[in-house]
Amino acid sequence: MKKIINSIIVMMTITALFLTGCGSVSTGSDSALSVLTSTTFLADITRNIAGDRVNVDSLLPAGTDPHAYQPSPQDMAKIEKSRLIIINGAGYEQFLLSLIAGAEKNVIEASAGLSPREDAEQGVDPHMWLDPNLVISYVENIRKALAEYDPAGEAVYQSNADVYVAQLQELDGWIKMQVEQVPADKRLLVTNHEAFGYFADRYSFEVVGSVVPSFSSNAAPSAQQMAGLIDAIKKLKAPAIFLDTADNNTLAEQIADETGIKVIDDLHLESLTEGAPAATYIDMMKYNVSRIVEALK
Ligand SMILES: [Zn+2]
Repeated sequence: MKKIINSIIVMMTITALFLTGCGSVSTGSDSALSVLTSTTFLADITRNIAGDRVNVDSLLPAGTDPHAYQPSPQDMAKIEKSRLIIINGAGYEQFLLSLIAGAEKNVIEASAGLSPREDAEQGVDPHMWLDPNLVISYVENIRKALAEYDPAGEAVYQSNADVYVAQLQELDGWIKMQVEQVPADKRLLVTNHEAFGYFADRYSFEVVGSVVPSFSSNAAPSAQQMAGLIDAIKKLKAPAIFLDTADNNTLAEQIADETGIKVIDDLHLESLTEGAPAATYIDMMKYNVSRIVEALK
């Protein structure tokens, strides 16, 4: 009898060990620290602060335009599993709002505290990340959120953030130097949608106009708006239209036919790329600035 009980205890112990072993493998991501970001550039910025302590995933894959994104059922599952979600905010993640509404999630807006550019008709401009100085505020917001989520990592997050902020300041200096190659009267931007306001403010460009006169790519221009843009391009002799690689370039090509303007349609404004040329936020900015300077100088 004793023998049987002993062997039952041994069996139970083995089973328990086995279950624990399995559990720690299959549910490892639940116990490990993990953060979900809405987009790829936010994932990269967050990884720079989180280092190895936190697993950082982007909800949207590389190459996806958040303005026009339609969430999938898998997205809902990812959101459900996440305790901390980092979004750009300022109305950027329209696709996410219905998914996170009602869910008791810790959702952090990276752009919180910044004063957005606003327009009575179009609302709020969310494209703050195209000015690296404003991304320094993103870093501070994300650092605080990580330190609250994982207090034991606070010192690591602070020191990683300090290193990254220095890199962002260096990027800002690099952009200023690049832009100096473009004569002041040629610092003209024509874009697909109005993504360049903060960038233009920081680096002294004039935004001549946009094919889609909206803070979102998910809109369409009227015939009158198109005609107005064509007039402005002719009048100011704007050298180039700049599009994101994900944008439809049909209207830009039509404008080019009428005005002779160059179409640069391979910028990366809303997403990183897998590998070069825009594998990180800093690479993305350097790539875009190089394309802009080449086209205007
Ligand atoms: Zn945009």
